[in-house]
Amino acid sequence: MLALQKMQPGAGFELRQIPEISTLSPDEVLVRVRATGICGTDLHIAAWTPGYESMQSAMPVTLGHEFAGTIVAVGANVDHGMVGMNVTARPSVLCGTCAACRAGDEDNCTGRRGIGIGRNGAFASHVAVPEANCVPLPSGLDFEIAALTEPMTVCAEAVDTGEVATGDRVLVLGPGFIGQGIALFCEAAGASEIVICGHNDGPRLATLNAIGFKNTVDTAGSSLRDALASYLERGGFDVVIEATGAPHVVPEALSCLKKRGIMVIAGIHPRPASVDLTVLVRNHQQLRGSYRSPLATWGRVVDYLAANQQRVRGLITHRFDLGDAAKGFDLAQSKTASKVVIQHPQD
Ligand SMILES: [Zn+2]
Ligand SMILES: [Zn+2]
Repeated sequence: MLALQKMQPGAGFELRQIPEISTLSPDEVLVRVRATGICGTDLHIAAWTPGYESMQSAMPVTLGHEFAGTIVAVGANVDHGMVGMNVTARPSVLCGTCAACRAGDEDNCTGRRGIGIGRNGAFASHVAVPEANCVPLPSGLDFEIAALTEPMTVCAEAVDTGEVATGDRVLVLGPGFIGQGIALFCEAAGASEIVICGHNDGPRLATLNAIGFKNTVDTAGSSLRDALASYLERGGFDVVIEATGAPHVVPEALSCLKKRGIMVIAGIHPRPASVDLTVLVRNHQQLRGSYRSPLATWGRVVDYLAANQQRVRGLITHRFDLGDAAKGFDLAQSKTASKVVIQHPQD
């Protein structure tokens, strides 16, 4: 089968023929992949930005961790009734043997391996995953929408971490897919005003406009505070959620937060940010990090996706076959695309 693989450390990846998956571990299922999203993590791995060195021992490894498909075979310990089930999968595979795993404290597993990072992923026609990682999909949920479950759980977690509640005014920084999903979940949480900022980000802000978010701001050519002046006249925001990964944004964003407000950091930052902590203290503000969601969030996100397919589909701006994945990666790297999905045609 054709697979998009990371062959060695350094920039790049390879589309190559690899053997079909012929054996499964007893607790695994074989998924025929129908759609796989290209994620910021995939772009980092392709560009080989620091932080992914531990992947080296898994290479060559098939990338792709945001996917959905159909179970076509099961390992010896798995109920055969699962064949035919449509699923997405949590990408983080627990080691099962570290002290945390043995104590039942999954969140602190020290030996996790990510599907599509530390073990073979879903930029291929088939992927083998542990049954325990599978999340069943309701009938009628399209595969390309279901493939977005994982990044959407990241968005839901950021909104939960910010405790966004009915009537809140929320500022979202960064209009990439994560910022877009955050806007959707802020709306679902009952926020009264959602302002989304980008910097030289016309196409992605337009994607947000097209799915109904009117308060978008491009900060190109001005400071954040100046660009938001008309909103800040009515006071600071109740919650600020950062999804830019740009450290210089953090102190400016804090100045847009009201007293006792919550700022959530969801971006991955290449350098430390500088924050005036005395101002933070005097304003009683909270700065919170948000990353992987708990398992319980997955079902809620799948339900949200099933109920809001048309809206979410508006965030998929480009679709490619696996053979054209390189084009998809180039587009995903540019600020013109929102979500790029690789489709796997079925015979
Ligand atoms: Zn991802
Ligand atoms: Zn473990």
